[in-house]
Formats: sequence, structure tokens, C-alpha cells
Amino acid sequence: MTGARIDRSSPNHGPRPDGARAELLILHYTGMPTAAHALSRLCDPAAQVSAHYTVDEDGTVYAHVPEDRRAWHAGVSRWRGLGDVNGRSIGVEIVNPGHEFGYRPFPAVQMAAVAGLCREIVARHGIAAADVLGHSDVAPARKEDPGELFDWPGLAAQGVGLWPTPSQDDAGPWSDSEIPALLGRYGYDPAEPKALLAFQRHFHPEKLGGAPDGETVRRLRALLRTTGR
Ligand SMILES: [Zn+2]
Repeated sequence: MTGARIDRSSPNHGPRPDGARAELLILHYTGMPTAAHALSRLCDPAAQVSAHYTVDEDGTVYAHVPEDRRAWHAGVSRWRGLGDVNGRSIGVEIVNPGHEFGYRPFPAVQMAAVAGLCREIVARHGIAAADVLGHSDVAPARKEDPGELFDWPGLAAQGVGLWPTPSQDDAGPWSDSEIPALLGRYGYDPAEPKALLAFQRHFHPEKLGGAPDGETVRRLRALLRTTGR
């Protein structure tokens, strides 16, 4: 059971580039003091920003931009070597004040609504589970959202995205120097110094800090092994 769906159209969108389809799902937090602030900004022509949907803390889903259009949520971003992430993605904003205005856990009712909405999007567009991402995954140098309090494992348990479960196959020695290449194989920009920090924010938030450690490497190997990347 998810919350209400409300149409709240935004004028901030354009055509997708020729041949581009929605192959990535990018999750954000709104990072504004209130939901009302965020909704008004996402629909303000002067702000030049948008997303396809916003999910409020009570589970209400606001629809802003049709999925076949290019919404303006990711900015300068990169994944699997692909630029123009806006042209190739669906963007979902999730109401939370964010690190600037009082970052707090995402309520269960909100996460259930996010899961329900994302399951539909992923099915409609055939988006791979490994391509359900946070904004910080595609823009590690600029962005922290949806952040280390976001319940990625819970979302994976509800059928959206992935959560790594390392096995014996993922143990074994490792060195710092192999990490950029492993991150690059999964989809991160290997030349981006903060890619490991972004990986930890998503997949090992207990270790957030950007320093390599064994469990981070095991989780990365597990994702590569189970996805075949
Ligand atoms: Zn964002």
C-alpha cells in the first residue's frame, strides 16, 4: 500500500536526445527545509530544475514530468562512461532536509512509497538493478544525496536496486591500487577521487570516510560477481 499520487506538473523539461532511453534511475533527497519549498522550486521555471517525481515523507507521490521527457535533476554526472545522465535517466526526489538543513532518517511509509514507485519505473523501462543509483554515485565530487541514512538494503529487499552479500569468493588479498579499476568496472568514474567515498555512502555507510578497507572491497567484489560487471 502506497500513498496518494498527485499531479504537480513542472515546466522544466525537454526532449531526450535521439536514441537515448531511460536506462538509469537516480534517487535524490530534496535538501530543502520543507517539502513545500522543494515542490515549489521543482516547478518554478526560473529555477531550471526538476525531477520526474517527488516522494513526500508521508508517502505521497507528486508527478512533475512525463517519463518520456528529459528532466533536469542530475547536472554534470557520469555512469558507466555515459555523460548526459539527465538524458538517460528517471529522477526521483525524496523529501528530506538533507545535510544542510537537518539530515534525518527516511520514514518507513516514505520508503515503501519510494519502493512501489521505483518498482514500476524499473519494470517499465527495463532498468538494471545495478543502475538504480544515488545522485552521489553519478556525481561523487559534488553530491552527497540521498546520503548515508538512506535505506538501500531495505529498498533492495523490496525489489529495487542491489545490496551486496559477500561470500568466501570475495575474500582474499587486495591492494589500494586495484580499487579505481574495480569501481570503474561497476560504473563509477574511475578517475574521480571521491568515487570510493560515494561507493561507501551507498554500500558501506558504517565505513563512510573514503579510506579503503577489507569489507568495502569485499562488497564491491560481491557486486561485480553477482552482476557480471
Ligand atoms: Zn540530487
